[in-house]
Amino acid sequence: MRIAVLALQGDFAEHEAIFGRLGVATCQLRQKQDLQQDFDALVLPGGESTVQGKLLRELDMLHKLRQRILAGLPVMATCAGTILLAQQLLDDPTVHLGTMGISVRRNAYGRQVSSFGTCGTFGSIENVPMRFIRAPQIEFCVPGVEVLSEHDGRITAVRQGRQLAMTFHPELGTDCRIAEYFLNEIIGAK
Ligand code: GLN
Repeated sequence: MRIAVLALQGDFAEHEAIFGRLGVATCQLRQKQDLQQDFDALVLPGGESTVQGKLLRELDMLHKLRQRILAGLPVMATCAGTILLAQQLLDDPTVHLGTMGISVRRNAYGRQVSSFGTCGTFGSIENVPMRFIRAPQIEFCVPGVEVLSEHDGRITAVRQGRQLAMTFHPELGTDCRIAEYFLNEIIGAK
């Protein structure tokens, strides 16, 4: 089993480190030909969604990745990755991959409190450290999207079929339980 991590920009190395701790092999997607590698799942890291989206288009990777996700490739997205998956961005006409039935507002927490850490519940997993960095907010979900986590009345993690998206960064730190959830409940459920 191998997990591909989009490695154009952002904190892809931290995601690779978490899966490395779990003994799961990863490979990087840096250019179009990397999509020909064998991989069973995809991780979209945090970072800057406008830069990642622009590079995905310039490198001609966007369409192929969208097709793979729509065909059932399991995907885990954090923060900017969630913005890439959203079918709609509020206050922004851009759609990147657009495979997930969520509407997302970028930088929703405002400047003053744009970065903070907390602990929360994710599905049945308790006390998960959650780091929010210039985080977006998931404001609407279509029916069939399951809410897995909320903080202060705001949705912070969702699942739709084999797509998992969150607005915080579970990969910053040493807690591997969300990566394990992805491995067991989403990839394993294939
Ligand atoms: N604010 C960033 C964006 O709009 C996301 C921040 C993050 O990934 N930590 O892409």
